[in-house]
Amino acid sequence: MNRIAIFTSGGDAPGMNAHIRAVVRSCLNRGIEPIGIYEGYQGMIDGDIATLGRKETANIISRGGTILKTARCEDFKTEQGRERAAKNVRDHGIEGIIACGGDGTFHGAHYLYQEHGIPIVGTPGTIDNDLFGTDYTIGYDTAINTAAEAIDRIRDTAESHGRVFVVEVMGRHAGFIAMDVGVACGAKAIAVPETHTDLADLAGRINEHAHRRTIIIVGEGDQLGSATDVSRMLKESYDIDSKVAILGHIQRGGTPTVRDRVLASRLGVSAVNMLLAGKSDCMIGEHAGEITTTPLNETWEKKKPLPTFYVELSSVLV
Ligand code: ADP
Repeated sequence: MNRIAIFTSGGDAPGMNAHIRAVVRSCLNRGIEPIGIYEGYQGMIDGDIATLGRKETANIISRGGTILKTARCEDFKTEQGRERAAKNVRDHGIEGIIACGGDGTFHGAHYLYQEHGIPIVGTPGTIDNDLFGTDYTIGYDTAINTAAEAIDRIRDTAESHGRVFVVEVMGRHAGFIAMDVGVACGAKAIAVPETHTDLADLAGRINEHAHRRTIIIVGEGDQLGSATDVSRMLKESYDIDSKVAILGHIQRGGTPTVRDRVLASRLGVSAVNMLLAGKSDCMIGEHAGEITTTPLNETWEKKKPLPTFYVELSSVLV
């Protein structure tokens, strides 16, 4: 291969820049020209494509976000959109692509490979850690540390004022962020989509505490609803007053942790290796310390299980 392209797509995640840097340096060390596609699939369709070098990727390892930008692109969901993208890829002499993103990005990569035979591998770039085939995704470690720091601050107020805080964290349909952060911050209860959340149980846990100063974590996608819904239901059904804190997008940004930088770098180098070894239509992940490949379709067809120890921890440590 003479030219390998990288793009970032879907939600941004801290560590994507370290990943881009690793791909670029890995290519340069093998005499391959590294190419950047800007704004995800939108840039692939629009031809927003340029050569990357050491200069473009200097001093980015510690920066959050992505220098290649990211975008959501409805056109790529159509065959015509993918046709235009494939033409641009061929016209630029790109022989292999690394797609860093989540399951939406992998759907697109899978179709691009199936329809146009363009070698493409995915790398897991999402704070949600919800992709089957890898123990951790790029951005997850930073996100949980950012969320934990924010909740530690909220705890100071909860303690001082004797308040109940219902804190909502991200995670889409997966409870990884909620569980890790909830255990790490000593939450009284952790509501996640993978387990049944019982309002009466939540209320009981809050009332165990004489002064009702406590923190409840609600993961996005919980069947009871959002943190705002849970807070309202606690008032309506149990006359429990609570404050709502939605951490939102602060969980996405910021300086990537060492773990995220190392994971992003390792997966970047491995992705180039895998393309050179002829692999395609698969995600490069890390499991039990080893680099793994998982067919792209399995990353969304199979559900990554939430380790059962979390449920035990969250009930024993309250
Ligand atoms: P993520 O990759 O983080 O899951 P999205 O779900 O927004 O983020 O997907 C990113 C992009 O991937 C979309 O904007 C779209 O361009 C492309 N994509 C998502 N789903 C599909 C699909 N079913 N077919 C083709 N492309 C898709």
